[in-house]
Amino acid sequence: MKKLLTLFLTLLTAVLAWAFTVPTEEDRAKAVGSLLHLTPDLKAAFDPGDDFRAIPEPGGFDWLATHGEEGQTYQEFLRSNPNRPGARGRKFIYLQPVGEFPENAPRLETLKSYLEAYFHPMPVKLSKPLILKPTSKIQTRGEQVNSTDLLNALQMRVPADAHVMMAVTMKDLYPGPGWNFVFGVARLKRRCGVFSFARYGIEEDPKLALLRAMKVISHETGHAFGIKHCIHFHCLMNGSNSLGETDRAPLHFCPVCLRKIHWGLKFQPSGRYQKLVDFLKKNGFEEESKWFAMRAGKTKVTIE
Ligand SMILES: [Zn+2]
Ligand SMILES: [Zn+2]
Repeated sequence: MKKLLTLFLTLLTAVLAWAFTVPTEEDRAKAVGSLLHLTPDLKAAFDPGDDFRAIPEPGGFDWLATHGEEGQTYQEFLRSNPNRPGARGRKFIYLQPVGEFPENAPRLETLKSYLEAYFHPMPVKLSKPLILKPTSKIQTRGEQVNSTDLLNALQMRVPADAHVMMAVTMKDLYPGPGWNFVFGVARLKRRCGVFSFARYGIEEDPKLALLRAMKVISHETGHAFGIKHCIHFHCLMNGSNSLGETDRAPLHFCPVCLRKIHWGLKFQPSGRYQKLVDFLKKNGFEEESKWFAMRAGKTKVTIE
């Protein structure tokens, strides 16, 4: 009985140690870092104000209820010595289709334009589709493709001028025996990843499937820029355990994550927001475009 009680207390302590506490407004401001010596447009871009919400309390199966992550402040990001985009000639994001894409699948040209707006001004190259041959070293299980084998093959093809190569496929992926499926896998040291849109519901709702593809591809590209999961704000860089959690996440980067990509990309904040507004309106995401339009206005600093 005593043993059982000890076990129970140990488990309880472990659960309590994992329990995530939503960071306070002060913690969130600290994560952004000092804005003292910044130009007015950058101050406006990184000041959380009222436009960014704190990360919500995680529900039972949400990412932060199951993963004890500590997050990454802007200063911690700098100390992690991230790869500077463009260094060593690595100045492109590559989008690499794998296999066939049916008519109602997220369009690759659309994803290219989206990434170009999101990671402005880094150019995006759309590579020729890689056709999977049954004779290759890539194992399959029925219609599913082994993602470990696929990534082994893809990492040999990462172009020398790629900051990252994002491969996308409509094939369902599994990482190995004993696994049901996986949405995607990445090897950031090898600058590549592969993501499947097979379970995004393209038959039921192609527009939602496209939005999911946009969220996942920009979240994963964010990791390629050295950004860890965000635990401060409700943000595109929040970890996700399910499609439901991805659907609830916003499409935008919070001030902490925005400051991290700005360190490498040096864009003009309102110009980048405006590019996203143009993209979203053009592709029928009128509702999603409103937040970005509001931010484009607020970060546009006119000198009088
Ligand atoms: Zn992630
Ligand atoms: Zn964030």
